[in-house]
Amino acid sequence: MGVLSASGARQTISRVLLTVRMSSSSSAPLLLINDPKYSFLKELGLKEENAGVFNGQWAATGPVVESVAPASNSVIAKVQNGTVADWEKAIAATQQAHKQWRTVPAPKRGEIVRQIGDKLRHNLTNLGKLVSLEMGKIQAEGIGEVQEYVDICDFATGLSRSLAGQVLPSERPGHALLEQWNPLGVVGIISAFNFPCAVYGWNNALALVCGNSCIWKPAPTTPLTAIAVTKLVESVLVENNLPGSLCSLVCGEGDVGQALVKDKRVNLVSFTGSTEVGRIVGQQVQGRFGKVLLELGGNNAIIVNDDADLDMVIPAAVFAAVGTAGQRCTTTRRLLVHEKVYDEVVERMTRAYAQFESRIGDPLEANTIIGPLHNQHGVLKYKAAIAEAIASGGKVAYGGKVLERDGNYVLPTIITGLKGDAEVVIRETFAPILYVIKISTLDEAIELNNSVSQGLSSSLFTNNIQNVFKWIGPEGSDCGIVNVNIPTSGAEIGGAFGGEKETGGGRESGSDSWKQYMRRSTCTINHSKQLPLAQGIKFE
Ligand code: NAD
Repeated sequence: MGVLSASGARQTISRVLLTVRMSSSSSAPLLLINDPKYSFLKELGLKEENAGVFNGQWAATGPVVESVAPASNSVIAKVQNGTVADWEKAIAATQQAHKQWRTVPAPKRGEIVRQIGDKLRHNLTNLGKLVSLEMGKIQAEGIGEVQEYVDICDFATGLSRSLAGQVLPSERPGHALLEQWNPLGVVGIISAFNFPCAVYGWNNALALVCGNSCIWKPAPTTPLTAIAVTKLVESVLVENNLPGSLCSLVCGEGDVGQALVKDKRVNLVSFTGSTEVGRIVGQQVQGRFGKVLLELGGNNAIIVNDDADLDMVIPAAVFAAVGTAGQRCTTTRRLLVHEKVYDEVVERMTRAYAQFESRIGDPLEANTIIGPLHNQHGVLKYKAAIAEAIASGGKVAYGGKVLERDGNYVLPTIITGLKGDAEVVIRETFAPILYVIKISTLDEAIELNNSVSQGLSSSLFTNNIQNVFKWIGPEGSDCGIVNVNIPTSGAEIGGAFGGEKETGGGRESGSDSWKQYMRRSTCTINHSKQLPLAQGIKFE
């Protein structure tokens, strides 16, 4: 084990990051792409070294970096990143592609998106394995992520026939008053490491049926997934004689992200990532009066009321707290438990965690249920948070250890004894750490749920109908996702996804989220021979 002091861990984070970055320029002796065990990589069209820029052509001029598997920290393959000059070429081509695409009728655009969904369907397992290898989530979750892209393609295809505006009654005779929805232009998508495929998919499918072109800057540590996805999309565009730059890609670091954020040619910036970066991005895009869609950090709670069915609570809370090794934006980080059932819940949760210890391992192995953290940065943040929790009076009821083996493995952790307003509890630590907090009433629990600055997902376990409607009403949860008797994670694509407060306020995926990808024109059409002016004014 190695629980560092909080300040010690913070200092070490920057040293380790520097080492990781430096080592990324040295040539690795063996690339996983050449190991027959990972033959799916070549089947997806990946090579030992891959251009990380697509603007209709694949060509990059930036530094060559290595993509690393979190399970072993071995190099999978290399990627040549984009530069700001590469960005310039790509955005020009993407804007050009939009001019052609916006004239294609929406149902025909839907047909292209249907074909993208089909292409992904045929590559579901290979792409899911790549997500798993490069991000570190277990294979079922990797495949599930690709399935979300497939599902949103189906959703968007249907939507392409119902992007409806309203026809409203005009107060003037012989006039029609209606809303027309038109494409925005270019949608820039900046994505986080933890959903390297689905987040792009949610944006890409909706943006395309709405008549926009897309340009994607993925997380610097998951470029291979972005390249493989873009190759599949490219093949559909080529088969339909459409410009590849309808879905451009520029892999790179924050400098490419900044070029995207500041570029006036990007009409909508859809940013998924930390609140820290999102706060900067939001202000920058607003500064140029662009549109911005922010999907930022969460600090999600499950409330266990005294009338909850504990046989449902325990598996739900374990799944939501340790799934994806605690690296979902919707991961349960706080368990607010009624004092009457507190001891039983802690005891049963601890037992459940212990049962899963033998199933922490390689995310591509069938038996594995908990994979590694994405990188050493995540491990250091895990250690720092646990040290801080202990220093603040918390007790490690389970876990708290980094596993001594290759890769970035940690034990999922349960911490008790902290107050709901402890500094470490109100912060999002992107690791499998669950703080269990005792509450006396439902009102107190709702207040605690709402007391953090993030507002993504929340759940209440209860069997009381009055509690349910209180929870989803004006005195209830202030989050974008408000669940009852299910965990905080596992949202369906049919609903609008996103959160309030420092989670950014954006909504992606289902319901009427498509409206964020279009501009609304209010049209008044005079079909009479008279010219009645508004407010009865006469210019005679
Ligand atoms: P991050 O903020 O570090 O990076 C996100 C993206 O922003 C990356 O592509 C990164 O290269 C880019 N970036 C960094 N600096 C930039 C800058 N100055 N300008 C423009 N782009 C810049 O986030 P991460 O560590 O990759 O992801 C984890 C975070 O994402 C967590 O906080 C998690 O909660 C959040 N997240 C939220 C949702 C959601 O839907 N709400 C979904 C997934 C992840």
